[in-house]
Amino acid sequence: MKKIAVLTSGGDAPGMNAAIRSVVRKSIFEGFEVYGVFQGYQGLINDNIKQLELGDVGDIIQRGGTKLYSARCPEFKTPEVRQKGIENLKKRGIDSLVVIGGDGSYRGAQRLNEEGINTIGVPGTIDNDINGTDYTIGFDTALNTIIDAVDRIRDTATSHERTFIIEVMGRDAGDLALWAGVAGGAETILIPESKTDIKAVAERIEAGMSRGKKHSIIIVAEGVMSAAECGDELRKYINVDTRESVLGHMQRGGKPTGSDRVLASRLGAYAVDLLKDNISGYAVGLEKNEMSKTSFDEVFQKEHVINEKLYQLSKELSI
Ligand code: ADP
Repeated sequence: MKKIAVLTSGGDAPGMNAAIRSVVRKSIFEGFEVYGVFQGYQGLINDNIKQLELGDVGDIIQRGGTKLYSARCPEFKTPEVRQKGIENLKKRGIDSLVVIGGDGSYRGAQRLNEEGINTIGVPGTIDNDINGTDYTIGFDTALNTIIDAVDRIRDTATSHERTFIIEVMGRDAGDLALWAGVAGGAETILIPESKTDIKAVAERIEAGMSRGKKHSIIIVAEGVMSAAECGDELRKYINVDTRESVLGHMQRGGKPTGSDRVLASRLGAYAVDLLKDNISGYAVGLEKNEMSKTSFDEVFQKEHVINEKLYQLSKELSI
């Protein structure tokens, strides 16, 4: 009988539970045995592995976080350490693994696949920065969490006629900042993929104020600079009353949106479909609303790029 394991790794994301549930239920539906590896790659090398039944994934589809826990495990980059993890799978007769995580986790998955475990990656990260899928699991939920915060901040920004600077997650990728900025009607969006010109931002705010604009929202991705730094930089050019909000880890939590639950359910099941057909070494994704698979090599070949048309639109709509 085929035996499949599943783990979650790296930064957690809402919808990971829905993906775990899908992998487990689809595997059992296909007549396979399925195992949960707890604490990501750390649990794999520590032999923290348990067989899962249908009931083990009951009542989790609506929960944020990950029931399997996640961990960072830098030593997994060492082949001898990975070998220990591989042995822990093989001694149970497990030959296939689904890794739910971001691109760091995919690198570990690629190595495991080369070293004899059939591995499929499922994109679980709020950053939406993985090639081979239009959306990652968790992005939509984090986006809506940010939008909710922006709407609330806008109320007080309007009452007090202030400029608010809202710092959102995104060290290397500006998708959350861009989408939240468009959806929240931000006047300025600062993303790592584009050069930041604070003087130009200051001039725009000043021009807006002289037209009678009472408040302004700036969304800055953490990879560009902190909200506090952004305020300091602005005040070098204009006399403006700013308030800074750092949304922080609240962006990672919360119940997954319907879109994330459906995405996770589709991708988790598709990963099992591929393993059933002895296909491995791929990351699954949703492209143009169709299931797709992209080899790990191809996923890593190019840098993630921002949606330029959306970025341009954000500028046109915030004049
Ligand atoms: P994410 O998956 O969210 O991008 P990380 O970048 O922290 O998160 O990666 C998660 C884990 O994946 C790391 O702690 C490590 O165990 C594993 N990993 C990352 N890069 C590699 C690599 N080059 N080789 C093997 N394992 C890796």
